[in-house]
Amino acid sequence: MFNTSTIKRFQELETPFYYYDLGVLRQTLAACKEASSKYGFHVHYAMKANFNPKVLDMIQSFGFGADCVSGNEVKAAIEHGFGKENVVFAGVGKSDKEINLALDADIFCFNAESVQELFIINDLAKAKNKTAKIAIRINPNVDAHTHHYITTGLEENKFGINTFQLTDVADALRKCPNLQFLGIHFHIGSQITDMEVYKSLCLRINEIQDWFEDHGFGVKVLNTGGGLGVDYHHPDTNGVSDFESYFKVFNDFLKVKPGQEVHFELGRALVAQSAALISRVLYVKNGMKKNFLVLDAGMTELIRPMLYQAFHLIQNLSREPSHDMTQDFGLKTLDLKYDVVGPICESTDCFQKDVDLPQSFRGDLIAVRTAGAYGEVMASGYNLRDRVGSIYSE
Ligand SMILES: *Cc1c(COP(=O)(O)O)cnc(C)c1O
Repeated sequence: MFNTSTIKRFQELETPFYYYDLGVLRQTLAACKEASSKYGFHVHYAMKANFNPKVLDMIQSFGFGADCVSGNEVKAAIEHGFGKENVVFAGVGKSDKEINLALDADIFCFNAESVQELFIINDLAKAKNKTAKIAIRINPNVDAHTHHYITTGLEENKFGINTFQLTDVADALRKCPNLQFLGIHFHIGSQITDMEVYKSLCLRINEIQDWFEDHGFGVKVLNTGGGLGVDYHHPDTNGVSDFESYFKVFNDFLKVKPGQEVHFELGRALVAQSAALISRVLYVKNGMKKNFLVLDAGMTELIRPMLYQAFHLIQNLSREPSHDMTQDFGLKTLDLKYDVVGPICESTDCFQKDVDLPQSFRGDLIAVRTAGAYGEVMASGYNLRDRVGSIYSE
């Protein structure tokens, strides 16, 4: 991701900023496209992971659809050239304004998350003399074995409709002439790396689609959601998620009937490795028990460590050669342990504790890796901080 000339370029720039390696992004998108096309699967990019305009444009150019979770995302998807027939709209709390916007845009499908929402979409569609296409987001009660903050497919989660409510769904659909039932939707969580979890999901989907067929509802679309994880520990040596195995599981275990389409909504796996947050050391504090590196970036630029206890690999670009650097860069001095913290007035504003790093100094460039997903999009203006910028490899 970094070579000596990239790092030289960074030295001229004001920090912090997001650095996007568009080569990495392209390589990832190509791998996903190839692996999914083999089975004729459709992939919608979950835009909430990163809506940086350059990133969106490249994803669109590969022919992916867009999975949106707000009215503004629907608008942005269409503005960036994602065809309306490839836009889906999910979310547990769609406002009337957002539903109307999506109806006006004639998007492909609403992923509805409650029985009440079905009636609201029906009413709003009726007022416009339109028919809204609907997939029902169902909570399959499959444990994603991921961090509890990012699991979404259990009955205790706020997302989706539980299977014991399916009779109510069927009744609602029959009463809503302005809804067209398209299929079923699932999304069980994020950063899932255990393929067994997806196998369990497939088996549940098979049962649930049978239920719909048995009750007279033809299921045209099976939307399995997203959630495929990335390797936060080895961004250089394992930089592309295992799309091959991922899609193969669905091909092997999902019962796909003739004429049915299988849809996916990947976010993280497409974009996470393509960016790093680049920051400088402001101060080095040597305590009795702890050494602190105080960076000029914090939770206002990348909140995942503070919000989800997420791990990101941290590198001192001024002192240690990064993996893909051919030339040795700088001298590797003795390793120390540092708590790497941000400047924000919150104790939780810490990227990671006890990080092994070469001895570091004020002005050193620090990279926080694998920051392309749920990074820049979650930046905030807390403490009246400047909005974080972004630069690109090309
Ligand atoms: C967030 C989200 C996704 C994408 O999740 P990733 O873990 O980034 O792949 C897909 N579908 C829905 C409904 C989502 O909310």
